[in-house]
Amino acid sequence: MLTSIVGTNWGDEGKGRMVDLLSSDYDVVVRYQGGNNAGHTVVNDKGKFILNLLPSGILRPETANILGPGMVVDLAHLTKEVASIVKGGIPIEPGHLILSTRAVICLPYHPLLDQLEEDRLGDKKFGSTRRGISPVYADKYMKKALRMGDLLHWDSLKEKVADIVEWKNLTVEKGYGHEPVSAEAIMAWLEEYGLPFVPFVKDTTAYLDEAIKACKSVMFEAQLGALRDIDYGIVPYTSASTTLASYAPIGAGVPYAKLDEVIGIMKAYSSCVGEGPFTCELFGEEGDALREAGGEYGAATGRPRRVGGFDVVASRYGSRMQGSTCLALTKMDVLSYMEKIPVCVAYELNGERIDYFPSAIDDLNAAKPIYEYLPGFNCDISGCRKAEDLPAEALNYVRYIEDAVGCPVKYVSVGPERDAYITMF
Ligand code: GDP
Repeated sequence: MLTSIVGTNWGDEGKGRMVDLLSSDYDVVVRYQGGNNAGHTVVNDKGKFILNLLPSGILRPETANILGPGMVVDLAHLTKEVASIVKGGIPIEPGHLILSTRAVICLPYHPLLDQLEEDRLGDKKFGSTRRGISPVYADKYMKKALRMGDLLHWDSLKEKVADIVEWKNLTVEKGYGHEPVSAEAIMAWLEEYGLPFVPFVKDTTAYLDEAIKACKSVMFEAQLGALRDIDYGIVPYTSASTTLASYAPIGAGVPYAKLDEVIGIMKAYSSCVGEGPFTCELFGEEGDALREAGGEYGAATGRPRRVGGFDVVASRYGSRMQGSTCLALTKMDVLSYMEKIPVCVAYELNGERIDYFPSAIDDLNAAKPIYEYLPGFNCDISGCRKAEDLPAEALNYVRYIEDAVGCPVKYVSVGPERDAYITMF
């Protein structure tokens, strides 16, 4: 079974919690895109863990976890993250964690460039997490990036680093007027944070190919959501990677593999970190109450998230782009306090009602939400474990979303704990 688990919206849909739950059925969990620019919070019997780079299966010792070729890896961050998991009582050995030879290394000057550019943009900034993700992907496409496999060729690394640093300083020093990057400092950084990971670096293509041939089940775990995709998202307020399920086999190392299932993770309401158009945004007391109830603060950055009601237009588009075969609706319990539930059913653009998600940033900026209200649940649903336990209004809400998005809801999550969910079919 090859399953991809992806976000259908702006990210932070609760993917981490769903992957943690569902990964028990899989032998291998692979991250296939992005870096440490987003975070999964996973709560289980061992405690609360924030994962930025590591696949959520890392908390289960029997699961193999891969950082695939499509990823960008900040080794200093990985060092910290691994240490926090080990501190939580979960040992991390080669085999339990595998790092692709093809994954790209995010070097210290990548976050620096991210920061220099966001600062240069001032009011026009993209709202980057400043973790260096766009600069490092740009270098990958310029063919000026180091890959994890370079750590296995230490003898030639010094020369490679000297060459790329010389090129990089054309931007850092001559472009931004910043103090130049030192090749020696980069080598020292690679020695400190890269060398300890050498035993973990492997050709994941061969590993996964064998795993699939041996009929092992593989879960492909995405970060962020469809609306943050570099091609189909809200450009330029997107990530620099492909966040879509169809990229999973490529970014994982088995480009020829076909997915059996795509689980679209969708939140029962909307949230968005950072800048850019967010048509369904709720403000004032209504927004504050929802943010508070949902604990909507960024896992990677701690930034308060913007919140809104469920957005039919964006969610239908996002689910379609992901090719979801089923949905997992998360954080349904958060809506328990509402007497009536706001739903953004369409947008208004230039005086007309539209139900498609515009591709042009100007149209998205101009679009206004059209809100309708559905009946509230009138009770706390966090204790429900079966579809029959849900009040009629909550079932009605699930059916409404299935119809509006055009995809069946297989799971409903009603709390952060591992067992706080309902399987609908
Ligand atoms: P991710 O990056 O997509 O995993 O999402 P976040 O980092 O935003 O994590 C979601 C947050 O919501 C975490 O703190 C989870 O523990 C929590 N969470 C996930 N699912 C549920 C749920 O169904 N109900 C509640 N109340 N919290 C949830």
